Amino acid sequence: MRQLIAGNWKMNGRQADSAALVRAVRDMVEAQAPACELVVCPPSTLLAEVAAALAGSAVAVGGQDCHPLANGPHTGDVSAAMLADAGARWVILGHSERRTSYAESNALVREKAKAAIAAGLTPIVCVGESEQQRLSGAAETVVAAQVDGSLPPGFAGPGFAGPGFAGPGFAGVVAYEPIWAIGTGRGASAEDIAAMHRVIRDQLTDTLGAASGAVRVIYGGSVKPDGAAAILALPGVEGALVGGASLVAADFLAIVRASSRG
Ligand code: PEP
Repeated sequence: MRQLIAGNWKMNGRQADSAALVRAVRDMVEAQAPACELVVCPPSTLLAEVAAALAGSAVAVGGQDCHPLANGPHTGDVSAAMLADAGARWVILGHSERRTSYAESNALVREKAKAAIAAGLTPIVCVGESEQQRLSGAAETVVAAQVDGSLPPGFAGPGFAGPGFAGPGFAGVVAYEPIWAIGTGRGASAEDIAAMHRVIRDQLTDTLGAASGAVRVIYGGSVKPDGAAAILALPGVEGALVGGASLVAADFLAIVRASSRG
């Protein structure tokens, strides 16, 4: 399966600095034609501009969250249809920073994923345990429950058909991001990553049936150029969600180059 490398810029970026970052990513992709699939997720303020700068390239653009409804009196929110209108083709949902800061439940993430699919966006649904849950031995149960509760019907396609970008095998993505590894420089061990990806794959089969084979499971949590090749070579790891390192062109591009499988 083609690996996916997704950059999550979080609440970072201004017009001036993002233009240079986007140009560097675009130039590298044109020069090296990496076989993996690429997406960058800037903040909403920069989305249309980044999408315009990457138009015609192999790098797609995504949002970082969406509201479950298409329009309405929801001050400060952005809908999936609005993200699509601004040029997004992807959206990150249920990131632990949102689950923690805004108490987003699995049920809400599921509604958001439904809205994303309806708007033609591919959702990247994040799951992951806290450090306390890992220490208490609950990590696998927590993550399996997040997968089961956060994914709507249609997540594995083929009913999942947004305008202009549906295709065979087109399906949502699950990102395993242990909370304690995000932004801390403390990545999970190879054994723990591989074991949790197996748990997620089994749960996907239970939740979505045979079609779940089209869903990619990617890893996120302090992925840096140094360790990226080893992580991306692990069985069951079908890409990476990259936070901090996606803000530095050379680091993001080194991770893209470390992608082992298409
Ligand atoms: C993230 O926020 O999705 C993430 C993986 O961040 P970082 O790579 O900085 O740990």
